[in-house]
Amino acid sequence: MTAFQGKSVLVLGGSRGIGAAIVRRFAADGAAVTFTYAGSAEAAQALAAETGSTAVVTDSADRDAVIARVRESGPLDVLVVNAGIAVFGDALEQDPDVIDRLFRINVHAPYHASVEAARQMPAGGRIIVIGSVNGDRMPVAGMASYALSKSALQGLARGLARDFGPRGITINVVQPGPIDTDANPEDGPMRDLMHSFLAIKRHGRPEEVAGMVAWLAGPEAGFVTGAMHTIDGAFGA
Ligand code: NDP
Repeated sequence: MTAFQGKSVLVLGGSRGIGAAIVRRFAADGAAVTFTYAGSAEAAQALAAETGSTAVVTDSADRDAVIARVRESGPLDVLVVNAGIAVFGDALEQDPDVIDRLFRINVHAPYHASVEAARQMPAGGRIIVIGSVNGDRMPVAGMASYALSKSALQGLARGLARDFGPRGITINVVQPGPIDTDANPEDGPMRDLMHSFLAIKRHGRPEEVAGMVAWLAGPEAGFVTGAMHTIDGAFGA
């Protein structure tokens, strides 16, 4: 397929899981894809070799490194901010430095990367941030910091849509429910609890999320901006 032939795509956090599926989708559709990773060098190099994409190490917890990476990528047609972490546990016991690192990765990096990308992005540019249905619904204890971070992305998209819309740049949030990745494996201990919240009794697949991202990045979605797009088997319904 050549839907994104000649397009320049940067995926922040692309070495594994949903990010890797997004890299595969854009590469298969003809784009020139660069993706970042932090800890999974082996997976990143394997994915780059498989897809013909470029892997670069950039820690999303490091604001200045994220801004520099986006700037050095030149004019992007598509920016996808996928990198994200969850921290589980009793809010009263959690290390504030660990929580603040989550906010740097899940909130600060998406904001600064989006703004930096927009400086050079041409008309028709697309910014897509991977949020979570937990931005709308958090049915379990111990994940308030994660829910907060994903709700924050809703304000990010609503606000920056106003800033960038006049230049023909859209920004949207994709909000997955449980997706089968290392972070939330379908064969893990949370399976039955997760499925109890779902109308479709299975985890979603990373490729299904990548499909929604590709649609938002494509020509049919030019009037779609400042919006949340939930793909969750009715977790949030
Ligand atoms: P995984 O843990 O499977 O993969 C996370 C990816 O993000 C890896 O490529 C990882 O790279 C990268 N990453 C993590 N931290 C950093 C960092 N500091 N700097 C750069 N890259 C980083 O997660 P998922 O694929 O499951 O999740 C991807 C996104 O989707 C996240 O934003 C998550 O919150 C969201 N999401 C996931 C859901 C799920 O059920 N799986 C549900 C809803 C939302 P590396 O290993 O190289 O550090």
